[in-house]
Amino acid sequence: MDLIKLLQREFDSKNLVIDSRNLVPYSVDESEAGPFFPQAALIAESPLEIENLLKLALEFNFPVTPRGLGSGKSGGSLPCEGGVVLALDKMQRILEIDEQSLLAIVEPGVITGNLHRAVEGEGLFYPPDPASLDECTIGGNVSENAGGPRAFHYGVTSHFVLGMEVVTMGGTRFNIGQKSVKGVSGLNLTGLLTGSEGTLGVFSRIMLKLLPKPADPGIIMVFFRDVHQAGTALTNILTSSLFPMSMELLDQTSLRNIQGVEGFTSPADAGGALICEFEGLGTNKDLKNRALAKFKESNPLHLQIALSKQECDQVWAARRNVSTKLKENHKHKISEDIALPRIVLPHALKLIDKIARENGLLKGCYGHAGDGNLHVNFLSDQPDPELAFSKAVQELFSTVIALGGTLSGEHGIGLSKKQYMPIEHDPNELAVMKAIKKAWDPWNLLNPGKIFP
Ligand SMILES: Cc1cc2nc3c(=O)[nH]c(=O)nc-3n(C[C@H](O)[C@H](O)[C@H](O)COP(=O)(O)OP(=O)(O)OC[C@H]3O[C@@H](n4cnc5c(N)ncnc54)[C@H](O)[C@@H]3O)c2cc1C
Repeated sequence: MDLIKLLQREFDSKNLVIDSRNLVPYSVDESEAGPFFPQAALIAESPLEIENLLKLALEFNFPVTPRGLGSGKSGGSLPCEGGVVLALDKMQRILEIDEQSLLAIVEPGVITGNLHRAVEGEGLFYPPDPASLDECTIGGNVSENAGGPRAFHYGVTSHFVLGMEVVTMGGTRFNIGQKSVKGVSGLNLTGLLTGSEGTLGVFSRIMLKLLPKPADPGIIMVFFRDVHQAGTALTNILTSSLFPMSMELLDQTSLRNIQGVEGFTSPADAGGALICEFEGLGTNKDLKNRALAKFKESNPLHLQIALSKQECDQVWAARRNVSTKLKENHKHKISEDIALPRIVLPHALKLIDKIARENGLLKGCYGHAGDGNLHVNFLSDQPDPELAFSKAVQELFSTVIALGGTLSGEHGIGLSKKQYMPIEHDPNELAVMKAIKKAWDPWNLLNPGKIFP
């Protein structure tokens, strides 16, 4: 039977997108992959619609690609084999915030920033804070196991997922996980599904752990002559008893690109900076003095402190703009998301410089360096830099793996990096991953074409 007719028979037409012009937004995300057009998109409003779509998909043999808000940077939500995009961004209800048990139950389409504001209104805290927090969903975050600046102190999304309601290919819906913060009963399926990039099941409800809201956070910004010095200072802080809530690094290109954004200024001769946020910085004098003394050991150019909520919000808003500004200010940009053992960061930064230079490219490096996660952007204002980009990326990944790092710290593999998986993973490890995919979706109909080369 014709797929469109089938969908029109089963679903309310107001929730179906079939016109090719209206399908454009579902054919791209924030990666360089695509466009890939689906035959249709279904805007789900309830778990029942997810269930029905996955039942039909198995019966009539068409692929389904789950999608949050399409802010993914590895092509995970792109329907590269056609079929139907399952849009989850209208399932936006926060179903429960339990202040006593410190947990929240949400629909998958809740925007991450909205959850932050809702729980903070109750004196609570949901730490995972991808820089895209107002443009991405909790479902997308769980699927990619998203990180962000605060992952350094609190951990990534998987540290906050207690359980979920999941729908598998064929339309079976069930709950996994538990409400307690601890639990070792059976295999850890919650852990397996978190970071599964929409390939094993669709989350229709998600149960998250919350924390009490930290008191009086404040930021120390430390500017250095060059980024390698910033990398060394970072290692110095890591091995001290100071434990910031976040530790971000920016190189010279990144600093220059956000100059003036939200009032952000850096010294003209700064070649690198650290942004470190501490709980209680405004009220705990001893903490402030110890932190400043530690930073001064690394001989910085300049130190700047932000204590009020408005000042801190401005610093974070400028930091979140780095990716957008690099894209706006350069003709071509390719962005990678490597993670490294933190001790090798200063050395790795030098090697990345060399790779960019030797391939005739510019580079902008910034990111969650507290946990070794760097966003390496190769930039070019020349026509047709594709060959240089591809050589630089290949060299970057080989270098990262040789240094004991990984292809992706938080953006996932999706479509963009699947060809590089054999550089990092043993064939036996890849075979186990593929067997797991087969156990959940033997027909390869749920988000096919992702992760595996
Ligand atoms: C400017 C910018 C900054 C960013 N900063 C960060 C950052 O700091 N940290 C970080 O981790 N990421 C960051 N990202 C990447 C991106 O925002 C995250 O990967 C985010 O988690 C994707 O959420 P989304 O709702 O947009 O998902 P989408 O892009 O729509 O989908 C991502 C994946 O999730 C799957 N999926 C979506 N919903 C579900 C569901 N309910 N059930 C099962 N699978 C599902 C999709 O199939 C796909 O594989 C950034 C992106 C941009 C553009």
